[in-house]
Amino acid sequence: AEGAMLEDDGHIVVGTAGHVDHGKSTLVGSLVTGQPDDGNGDTRSFLDVQPHEIERGLSADLSYAVYGFRDGDPVRTRNPNRKADRAEVVEEADRLVSFVDTVGHEPWLRTTIRGLVGQKLDYGLLTVAADDGPTKTTREHLGVLLATELPTVVAITKADMVDEERAIEVEREVERLLRDVGKSPLRIDRHGVDAAIEEIGDTVVPILRTSAVTMDGLDALDELFERLPKTGTEKGEFSMYVDRSYKVTGVGAVASGTIRSGTVEAGDELLLGPFRDGTFHEVEARSIEMHYHRVDRAKAGRIVGIALKGVREADLERGMVLLPRDADPAPVREFEADVMVLNHPTRIDDGYEPVVHLETVSEAAAFHPEGGQLLPGDTGHTRIEFKFRPYLVEEGQRFVFREGRSKGVGTVTSVSS
Ligand code: GDP
Repeated sequence: AEGAMLEDDGHIVVGTAGHVDHGKSTLVGSLVTGQPDDGNGDTRSFLDVQPHEIERGLSADLSYAVYGFRDGDPVRTRNPNRKADRAEVVEEADRLVSFVDTVGHEPWLRTTIRGLVGQKLDYGLLTVAADDGPTKTTREHLGVLLATELPTVVAITKADMVDEERAIEVEREVERLLRDVGKSPLRIDRHGVDAAIEEIGDTVVPILRTSAVTMDGLDALDELFERLPKTGTEKGEFSMYVDRSYKVTGVGAVASGTIRSGTVEAGDELLLGPFRDGTFHEVEARSIEMHYHRVDRAKAGRIVGIALKGVREADLERGMVLLPRDADPAPVREFEADVMVLNHPTRIDDGYEPVVHLETVSEAAAFHPEGGQLLPGDTGHTRIEFKFRPYLVEEGQRFVFREGRSKGVGTVTSVSS
């Protein structure tokens, strides 16, 4: 049967974060299945599966759960880890909500950065357990979500485990945490959804109480996710930074990632690169899949796997870009940027060499700051030079840099080839 057509802005991508055991997987599991947590871990077991353990699918490891809406009614999945169930949601829904884990079980920063910078998230969802309250990890995760300007919702989870007094106390702690970083908390329940949709953004952060056991608060989250506008994509020609590559039997090399702008259709003639020598090669989009569902075309914001003709899987690397055939990309070894040093024990001198995470690129780069140095907690301007190879970098792109535990964020201000 012909499925519903996804609307133009009918797909939002939500990045999840939160202290381990604060109920993130359970909350997402209950949302996408519509089932309460039965306490024996069933709801969330599939969500704890590590990406490499999930059977190799075209886009399996970028988003770990999906649900949707059709004519405003939820389209849920029985088991989000079953390809057929996920494909069914894509088929049925006219609006999709994909969840991408920004933390995972790897060192959190690496995945967070990839999640935030490489995948064009629309919203952040941060969980804080009502029994524990905010922790150091909560603070760290919130810092990165907000530093990259992702509009974020805070879900206080496990509300069933605490009394009213404790719930209010945790709400106040979260509010204080938000105010400390210059944000305006907005406490909501299902009646505050209109206000949250109106005001969420640069400064306003909605907070709501949830329980995966009683399902309290999940109706408000449903309504938010059904109505929140798409934020994370750009207009213009097709472009996609390659996040992962696969070799699929009978299909060949597959590039997965989130479409950054424009539309791609099966059969499109594309450019892929830069390769290590800075060149772009001609390839063809053989076929496109979204959540295991074969589609003829896909638009900005969708997480897809694109099977490519004209490249070997071994040569397909993260950080490369797919563009229309008539594009004229100019990859660079150097660019200029405004940066903010969020957390570094000493001043940063000329020659500082962190790893820069930009879109899906993660690469060692040397900093050459204006005036010779950058100070912790401060903003400044710097020239940045990739150590080993060129990448496609554009003005206005945001990135994160890290070196050991240190980190900061930046915006590309100019690109010179
Ligand atoms: P994550 O590490 O943040 O993904 O946390 P999990 O989702 O794995 O949850 C950790 C534990 O908390 C599990 O044993 C869940 O069953 C339990 N849990 C999660 N949400 C709730 C809730 O709303 N109420 C109660 N009582 N327990 C919950």
